[in-house]
Amino acid sequence: MRTHIIHIGAEELTYEIRNIIRVADKLQELGVPVYLENIGDPVAKGEKIPIWMKEIVAELAREDMCYGYCPTQGLLETREFLVSLNNNNGNARITAEDIIFFNGLGDAITKTYGFLNRTARVITPSPTYTTHSSSEAAHAGLPPVCYPLDPHNYWFPDIEELRRRVKYNPTVAGILLINPDNPTGAVYPVNLIKEIVEIAREYDLFIIADEIYQNLVFNGNETEPLGAVIGDVPGISMKGISKELPWPGSRCGWMEVYNVHRDSEFKSYIQSILDAKMVEVCSTTLPQKALPQILKHPQYQAYLEQRRQRYQRFSQIAYDRLKNIPGVIVNPTNGAFYMSVAFEDGVLNQLQTLPISNGAVSELVNEITGDPNIQPDKRFVYYLLAATGICVVPLTSFNTPMQGFRITLLEPDEKKFSQMLDKLKEGIEQYIV
Ligand code: PLP
Repeated sequence: MRTHIIHIGAEELTYEIRNIIRVADKLQELGVPVYLENIGDPVAKGEKIPIWMKEIVAELAREDMCYGYCPTQGLLETREFLVSLNNNNGNARITAEDIIFFNGLGDAITKTYGFLNRTARVITPSPTYTTHSSSEAAHAGLPPVCYPLDPHNYWFPDIEELRRRVKYNPTVAGILLINPDNPTGAVYPVNLIKEIVEIAREYDLFIIADEIYQNLVFNGNETEPLGAVIGDVPGISMKGISKELPWPGSRCGWMEVYNVHRDSEFKSYIQSILDAKMVEVCSTTLPQKALPQILKHPQYQAYLEQRRQRYQRFSQIAYDRLKNIPGVIVNPTNGAFYMSVAFEDGVLNQLQTLPISNGAVSELVNEITGDPNIQPDKRFVYYLLAATGICVVPLTSFNTPMQGFRITLLEPDEKKFSQMLDKLKEGIEQYIV
């Protein structure tokens, strides 16, 4: 090319989850049956969408207006519905002007970081959902700035370390928290969120809370949305319907902005995100129209509760199977539908293997794991996949040096889920001897 055309942040955009699926597909082609534990799409994993929900969507598909554009910020009636949900729960008060719809949170996330001043950083958890860390790093053209989550303490953030990193890095302008969390399944107690808010207040930062799993909390855990504790600190809560209805194909999510008028820079920043949306015109119309009808439906709460109970049961099954393996750190999933399993330091090395029965598969794995710089957990993941057909995601692909992997609780068939865990346990024990 006549001039450089590659963005400085291009190398920061990685999404390992999709890379592993490429290998899983190859294995399936070669005849190895695969348990897909890698993608957080309940529908792809066989979640049945209730008939009443489909009827709402089918009815809307008869209305011409659902085929048109909608206002840039989103349908007013839907934003007003969300405002009433928020304000009735005692949260920081917002108006319809404080809500912006996006084509899924993926869109909200890339715009939120994309329109931040290049030298301003948002400190992200480690491990974290990589759409955040990669987009944030891509905006800066530098590796992510992060704070550790502690597997020895329910994957909660190390607050003192977060404070230190904020204090000594003056480029940090914002803090990201994900509650309930992907990839760890942690649910933050209210006090912990308050402490993060206090750090933001002390250092004049804004907060981004990804709360897409806000209504998927179980095992008797209690938490609060950012809006309930933010006080006068500027903040953004990101919410959506991909996981909760679940309807990831709707590409529908939104942000609620708190205290936009408290800081003129924050106000202009939010305006730039809205302007970017305006340039694009708007987000998907039909899901916005369906959202209040689905959430208000008399069967919605019972449906959600039944899903929470299933995840709770599966969380306990997974925890019981894996908790006693020496060298492995496991916490029960308390929200969302992921479990991160960490290996103690030094447990993994570059010599461990698992027997792979198919010659062609063995060759493929040898080729991938032959890279001398491969992360040990990635190496484990490929051996596990080839030997047992279980497709998990290495923890190091979630922006952390910590070794481990992530599974999901999404398999609807309890027997198959338990079988997968038996094989997984056996695979880990055999690999790490
Ligand atoms: N935020 C978190 C924490 C997620 O885990 C995911 C998807 O896995 C998303 C956002 C993406 O949501 P959406 O489907 O609305 O783009």
